[in-house]
Amino acid sequence: MECTEWKNDPAEPAPLIAKAPRELIYSTGEMADLTRAFDWSETPVGPVEQWPDTLLITVNTLLASRFPMFLWWGDELTQFYNDAYRPSIAADKHPRALGRAAIETWPEIWPIIGPQIEAVMTRGEASWHEDQLVPIYRNGKLEDVYWTYSYSPVRDADGTIRGTLVTCSETTQRKRLEIERASLIKELEQKRAQLTDLFQQAPAFFAALRGPEHIFELTNPLYQELIGQRHVIGKAAREALPEADEQGFLALLDRVYQTGEPFVGHGTSMHLARTAGQPLEERYLDFIYQPMRESDGTISGIIVLGVDVTESKRAEQVLIQTEKLAAVGRLASSIAHEINNPLESVTNLLYLVETTSEKEVRLQYLAQAQAELARAAKVATLTLRFHRQSTRARDTSLPEVLEGVLTLIEPRLKNAGIRVERQYGTRRQITAYEADLRQVFANLVANAIDASEHGDRMILRVRDAVNWRSGEPGIRVSVADTGVGMSEMTRRRIFDPFFTTKGMTGTGLGLWVSAGILQSHNAAVRVCSSQRPERRGTVFSIFFPLDAANPGTH
Ligand code: ADP
Ligand code: MG
Repeated sequence: MECTEWKNDPAEPAPLIAKAPRELIYSTGEMADLTRAFDWSETPVGPVEQWPDTLLITVNTLLASRFPMFLWWGDELTQFYNDAYRPSIAADKHPRALGRAAIETWPEIWPIIGPQIEAVMTRGEASWHEDQLVPIYRNGKLEDVYWTYSYSPVRDADGTIRGTLVTCSETTQRKRLEIERASLIKELEQKRAQLTDLFQQAPAFFAALRGPEHIFELTNPLYQELIGQRHVIGKAAREALPEADEQGFLALLDRVYQTGEPFVGHGTSMHLARTAGQPLEERYLDFIYQPMRESDGTISGIIVLGVDVTESKRAEQVLIQTEKLAAVGRLASSIAHEINNPLESVTNLLYLVETTSEKEVRLQYLAQAQAELARAAKVATLTLRFHRQSTRARDTSLPEVLEGVLTLIEPRLKNAGIRVERQYGTRRQITAYEADLRQVFANLVANAIDASEHGDRMILRVRDAVNWRSGEPGIRVSVADTGVGMSEMTRRRIFDPFFTTKGMTGTGLGLWVSAGILQSHNAAVRVCSSQRPERRGTVFSIFFPLDAANPGTH
């Protein structure tokens, strides 16, 4: 059996010195080349061939390592470092740091590292520093550099401390990211807190719904108030608000989710359970269902945002009622007149019937009386119908509605000496709330009379028309007069509530109410007016789409 024995004999040191000095540095790489080429005889460590083994071994180990290393050797702390360390000192110190004394290279951090090196050199205390900020001159300025490093003593065979070996890695990049992330997180948290505050305190109700089932993710106090403090978070909207489903709001949410088109409700009526066990309460809401999109564009939820406008809506209804009463008041005199005249005739005719013996003549008088009564009955019916609320939109002939209005207003027109021209050229009907439209036309005609003088003309026109924007078919109604016209200032304000130029006799609500009614019919109004003598007058022109009062299609 053959054996080889490994012998560690200190009496026979490895014959390093026998080699040429340049061959004593073994590694390859830039720092190895520089270390080989360096004239060490000018430094306290002396020429390479005189280096003690410990230094040679340490330097060779350091140069071969892929981990950043730095060595301070001897009393002057002469410096060695490897390729891995080089990027951390950049051109400001490299390559001048090689072979130099520590304090010449590191004056800016000497207060930090001086004592640490001293602890190693004098007491052999190794140290470990993690992510320590040691700002150094680099890239022409003092830079915040973070290091994780260990200082350890390099000892001779006899235990004498000869140098300090630094094994380190620069952690600036990571630390910077960490700091950035920390400040970003803080910033985000602040933003989130701000947003939460905003939602909590916003004078609007707010809810966030997730997914196709519209799961409640977030609600604010006003939203909770609206839905009677029900617990909805985590629940699907269908389950959480069953009454909203019945009123078609869930279908709207589904549509927004599928099409990505937001939905806006103006003064929309919604019946909600505001207190458990109590009957539903009607609220009027201005709101938007806004789709939420992910970064890739897909819809992931819906934001519900809105305000409860119930109070202002109720106030508005009072005003609408006021204008209706005013309209009735305006009509009252002409109606009284209209009914009174036939009744007077009837009285007279009946007297004649009594005093006449001839049968033929008596029948003639009776027939006349009947006709007069029929006229009075017609006026009465029209009057009664005038303010009857229509709850359902019906097929409506606009010329008929206009004629109904004219029948009641005729006496005023006659008194005022205004000629009426009718240009009706349509057989189409529109789906509409007839009583509401009657109110609109009555006000337009009344306004035209107010603006006219004896001898003026009023032209009522009803024509088939097309919405030039959408190509949609409809009907255009215009009410034109040759009256005094309006100034630019007046024209701009006529739809404002309470705006009137008629002093105590006007309410200033007629056109404001009309605008609301026309809006609910998806109709568009255009007003032209002139005060120039040669073309004096005003034209109100209204376009109605055929299915005017059908909210689903507009
Ligand atoms: P009111 O008739 O009670 O004044 P409206 O809202 O109906 O209230 O009309 C507001 C104002 O618009 C009128 O006071 C008048 O100044 C102006 N206006 C409306 N129609 C006409 C018209 N055909 N010619 C001139 N001015 C008009
Ligand atoms: Mg008016």
